[in-house]
Amino acid sequence: MATSKTRNPRVLFVTPEIHPLIKTGGLADVSGALPAALRELGVETRVLVPGYPKVLAGARNKRLSHTFHDLPEADEVRLLSASLPGSGVPLLIIDCPLLYQRDGGPYQNPAGVDWPDNAQRFALLSRIGAILGSDASPLSFHPDIVHCNDWQSALAPAFLHFMPGKKAATVMTLHNLAFQGIFPPHIVAEVGLPPASFSIEGVEYYGNFSTLKAGLYYADHITTVSPTYAREIQQEALGFGMQGLLARRSDKLTGIVNGIDTGDWNPAADPHLVQGYDAGQMAGKTANKLALQEKMGLKRDPDIPLLGMISRITHQKGGDLLLEIAPQLLQENVQIVLLGTGETALENGFRNLAHAHPDKVGVTIGFNEGLSHLVEAGADMFLMPSRFEPCGLNQMYSQRYGTPPLVHATGGLADTVVDGVTGFVFEPMTAEGFFGCIQRALAAYRDKKVWGKIQRNGMERDSSWKKSAEDYLALYKSMLGGR
Ligand code: ADP
Repeated sequence: MATSKTRNPRVLFVTPEIHPLIKTGGLADVSGALPAALRELGVETRVLVPGYPKVLAGARNKRLSHTFHDLPEADEVRLLSASLPGSGVPLLIIDCPLLYQRDGGPYQNPAGVDWPDNAQRFALLSRIGAILGSDASPLSFHPDIVHCNDWQSALAPAFLHFMPGKKAATVMTLHNLAFQGIFPPHIVAEVGLPPASFSIEGVEYYGNFSTLKAGLYYADHITTVSPTYAREIQQEALGFGMQGLLARRSDKLTGIVNGIDTGDWNPAADPHLVQGYDAGQMAGKTANKLALQEKMGLKRDPDIPLLGMISRITHQKGGDLLLEIAPQLLQENVQIVLLGTGETALENGFRNLAHAHPDKVGVTIGFNEGLSHLVEAGADMFLMPSRFEPCGLNQMYSQRYGTPPLVHATGGLADTVVDGVTGFVFEPMTAEGFFGCIQRALAAYRDKKVWGKIQRNGMERDSSWKKSAEDYLALYKSMLGGR
């Protein structure tokens, strides 16, 4: 499967979720957008995905490609070729009703409990990814690269490693290091990996079997979703126990920031806004601010600085820091708008804050896509004091919406916000650090010329998928260069 110098690598993208068919997190957005952007660059790409009911119902042009009869997970597994609604990206769907045809989510039953056979369910996804990347593939599409994502597809590099013959090179992308695909040791033999692989030099992880570790250990290259996060996960604080392996493989570890959907997130043509605007015509932004103030029960005033935050309200996202500085902050002439759901104690903290300051603080507990667009457009500045953030999306949306983000210097936030140029960056992660950052932003806000420049810089920043796809393509090419 050597690639000639004249053609682009062919890529099999293996993923457990894909927008717009099935989504639990950012991985679905990447899986929907990156293969489409790679195709725009002339890369032949297929996406391999499990045939959950929503995938089978939503995919277009389904046709049977092959039937496997000899796999450990099921007597009969059908592989369908299809296409993704919208972009038309070619899909390969694993139709295995025994493992995937169920109510509930991709990983959990309707009660929120992990499916007991997740090891088998995602071993099958990985196994078919490996077969399609080997010379045992029944398809005429022979990928040069098998690109795996998170623990659910992370056994593919291990399976490929132990397969004979010519094979594709493997990339393992980490979107969330907190989920590691941990199973008891006996699963190693059950999925068909050799007993010797259950070792610290292999798939063993603190006495258990980790599919994620298998991917990190056996993949030819590892990527994660920002360069800073790629460095941070080599340290104990953010390495989730994988830091030793990641540090050892640091020459094979690259950070590439995600893009955003510049169609969905376009202030000039966003159906959720009361008025569109762009960098050359900012009047519409004020109209959205007034609409947001009214919606959240705040005083309608274009001149009061309005601080917005949209997030899962968890310890990771640093909402507790905002609650801590709120008494001091609310002595200033500012308004705060928060949209989010999450930990009950923090949710209640924000409810109480809004109750105590109804004219200055508006809080909506819940998930509301439309309101999130209005907050991005209507706020003057956007708060993102995350303790860690592999990539982050809201800081990119807010720059595009002329709403400079105030971010902690971590992960993708450090890589996508330039202090004093497109937003404001603080360090260390303390109440004083955050408060000082808000003070600096408020001072800049009072100077219309300075503020307008920061807004424009952010709005003109390129956060499209094209740039990220070019980086992935360069990586694929560099991996194949030596083959
Ligand atoms: P994470 O994936 O860690 O939650 P990101 O910033 O990468 O953080 O992405 C979060 C996405 O979810 C963003 O698009 C954000 O606007 C959206 N989001 C989070 N909470 C809400 C909410 N309560 N209502 C609407 N959208 C939300």
